[in-house]
Amino acid sequence: MSLVLHNSLSGKKEPFTPIDPNRITLYVCGPTVYNYIHLGNGRSATVFDLLYRLLCELYPTVVFARNFTDVDDKINAAAKEQGVDISDITGQFIQAYDEDMAALGNLEPSLKPRATEHIDDIIKTVSALIERGFAYESEGHVLFSVGAMPDYGKLSKRNIDDMIAGARVEVASYKKNPMDFVLWKPSTDDLPGWQSPWGVGRPGWHIECTAMIQAHLGETIDIHGGGSDLIFPHHENELAQGSCCSDHSGGYANYWVHNAMLDIEGEKMSKSLGNFIVLRDMLAQQPHELVRVALLSAHYRSNMNWSEQLIHQSRSLLDRLYTIKRDSQNIATSKVENFIELPFAQMLLDDLNTPKAFAVLHELTNQFFKASDDSEKAQLKSEINAICDFLNIAQLDANDWFQGQASDDAISAEQVEALIEERKQAKKNKDFARADAIREELLERGVEIKDTREGTLWSRIA
Ligand SMILES: [Zn+2]
Repeated sequence: MSLVLHNSLSGKKEPFTPIDPNRITLYVCGPTVYNYIHLGNGRSATVFDLLYRLLCELYPTVVFARNFTDVDDKINAAAKEQGVDISDITGQFIQAYDEDMAALGNLEPSLKPRATEHIDDIIKTVSALIERGFAYESEGHVLFSVGAMPDYGKLSKRNIDDMIAGARVEVASYKKNPMDFVLWKPSTDDLPGWQSPWGVGRPGWHIECTAMIQAHLGETIDIHGGGSDLIFPHHENELAQGSCCSDHSGGYANYWVHNAMLDIEGEKMSKSLGNFIVLRDMLAQQPHELVRVALLSAHYRSNMNWSEQLIHQSRSLLDRLYTIKRDSQNIATSKVENFIELPFAQMLLDDLNTPKAFAVLHELTNQFFKASDDSEKAQLKSEINAICDFLNIAQLDANDWFQGQASDDAISAEQVEALIEERKQAKKNKDFARADAIREELLERGVEIKDTREGTLWSRIA
């Protein structure tokens, strides 16, 4: 099976046909850097990391760009409030974002373009839109004229007249049509601004992605991704800009891939409901790999429900994988040559069906625990290892996984080791009552022990 992706533009699953199989282009809208990202942002980034990894298995070169929106009114407001330059705010949160991505185990994109480093490209794209009759200047602003584009609304499946009828906001004086959107806006002295043919100003939000795509990836890209909350207006407007700024016959992006949102215990995550989860707070509470597994466990086009149950299930899968890692160190593995042929990978090729792919992984662990001969175990372990490496999970030392999940008031590793040593001595002295008492005491304090040929192994139980 080859790769199939759901394309938001057609509303259907489609076989993926690259423009150039030797150079795949993937663009994903990144964060506006003025605060820490939430769990839902982490989900989106991890879904596209998975797609990137899969594309890298299939094609020799994948150029993956994810931008930083580093000029925006929310950033300006934060800088003003704190009395600092916008670069102080953006520098801090770009670093925080990179740290969060590393903690989640996501790969670095090939390119991380920033809006402020592409002002010339943005001005070039805006100028092209004016020259071609798709944009106009008005009161220091430049606006995209949605009426000039006959199929505006095709990505979000909206009709301009319905949108106008539904718009309740007062129409700004500089707009010809209420749906026209800003490409460039004027800046006063207290706001970041750049010289342009339309005076000192700054870009609107949508134009940066189009300009950076044209600058780095090409006129038409293979895949454009982001959260489903970006379909309108951001991606609709990007599509309008990208289709109208040049004469190219191809589209702006051939496949539009959108991930659904993340709910918390069955409710929409929002600050007003008090259930807003900052990603790094969750990463401080739970092992990073657990968060990664949980974020990938639902199908990317379904709303995912973050819950205690999900955390429990994710821990249980990782416990299985680490049990195999810890208890089968004597079983030699070999490298899986054709990863993409594995049933696990085949599930991912079908529009990133992670629930089915994780079910395959779970079943492989079942088979491993049931297997009786070492050659069968070796084959299963090789397959499981290949999957874990691909997903970038179960990469820790097994003992660190089992022993490293202690809460602050839990028994320390040193105390556990000391009791295990005492138990060993007790057994040597045939004091079995004391040995059993130590086992009981450890169990009461959340530690399970297992005697093996290699010695006594221990793990914390959740
Ligand atoms: Zn974008």
